[in-house]
Amino acid sequence: MTTLDAATALFRELTGRTPDGVWSAPGRVNLIGEHTDYNDGFVLPFATPHRTYAAVGIRDDGRIRVASTFADEPVEFALDELPRLFPTAAGDGPAVPEWAAYPLGVAWALQLAHAATGEPADIRGVDIAISSDVPVGAGLSSSAAIEGATASALNDLWRTGLDRPALASIGRRAENEAVGAPTGIMDQMASMLGESDAALFLDCRTLDAHAVPLGMTGLSLLVIDTRVSHAHSTGGYRERRASCEKGAAIMGVPALRDVSVDDLPRARELMDDVAFRRVRHIVTENQRVLDTVRTLRVSGARAIGDLLVASHASMRDDFEISIPELDTAVGAALDAGALGARMTGGGFGGAAIALVEEGDVQAVSDAVTAAFAASGFAAPHLFTVTPSAGAHHDA
Ligand code: ADP
Ligand code: MG
Repeated sequence: MTTLDAATALFRELTGRTPDGVWSAPGRVNLIGEHTDYNDGFVLPFATPHRTYAAVGIRDDGRIRVASTFADEPVEFALDELPRLFPTAAGDGPAVPEWAAYPLGVAWALQLAHAATGEPADIRGVDIAISSDVPVGAGLSSSAAIEGATASALNDLWRTGLDRPALASIGRRAENEAVGAPTGIMDQMASMLGESDAALFLDCRTLDAHAVPLGMTGLSLLVIDTRVSHAHSTGGYRERRASCEKGAAIMGVPALRDVSVDDLPRARELMDDVAFRRVRHIVTENQRVLDTVRTLRVSGARAIGDLLVASHASMRDDFEISIPELDTAVGAALDAGALGARMTGGGFGGAAIALVEEGDVQAVSDAVTAAFAASGFAAPHLFTVTPSAGAHHDA
């Protein structure tokens, strides 16, 4: 059964009806530009062929029910209860299971965003059944995929008429305020605006987005999922965000986007070593995104390997968000002939990517698997991805 069919089947099981439609949104792989999004900087992600599907139907009692093949039980509330549930910190309503806070948070944030437009709409109760083949917690942003599928479905069914960047912002707001994960806008923009065969060059300050053709002929992008799970809503991610804010304040700028590589000597004088290295990662990573876009345009994908490797070193040594499994994946892939490799996603687990000649995929995969075994790590999950289309109405 396809994932789309699984969403439709779950909807039928839930309601005894056929859905009004099915919408889907992809996960994303970030080619380069890590932790730069919440620093108002640059990122270069692309959408994965893995997608999350939402089969959705209107109901006439003003209630919203969400079910997922991922969860045991559906969750149901009255639509007008959502403002009591979210934002999470202020909500005094009943607790929402974490997974359900993603789609319910989107429904909440979409209503708020729409109310601000003053336009007419048709906001009614809905049943939502979700199925996904985006690996969860692997750094491929299953969270943006569930947000994007839900936001696209509700925007069409409720006739709220918001554009894709607005829907991306709604997904982010759900993730930040309903779930409580302080993530940036990259994942949602990639999931909403992805295109086949192209990466999305995104300025996270202006939300200007440009498709950059990847020209992957003869090349493969290998994903190495370490299967070490990360948790964005806690710990390291939050702490790194705070150091970036501190670094920007010390430099007297609104965000680290406004610090250039030339400003780094002054930054070193103004802050302690750890704070400086956090800043240096963001500043050099922003520059690497710009360099990667230019290299792709001028010389093609084969020429970006060194930039990927430099990005990984910066995350490992300066931002300190890598883990031994990710370093092993990157090292083994490069030793086996990958053109470039780096960890991707927020860090502390998740996946690495390797840019590999098509004919070398098997050899690189075998080398990575062997290196994991030799280090006593659980076997990684390896697969190739091709840049794919963003969120859309499927059926
Ligand atoms: P990532 O986005 O890297 O996969 P996150 O921690 O940001 O990891 O998001 C994963 C969470 O998103 C899951 O733990 C779950 O709560 C929610 N989620 C993702 N996909 C689904 C799904 N198909 N059904 C229900 N919840 C999902
Ligand atoms: Mg996520």
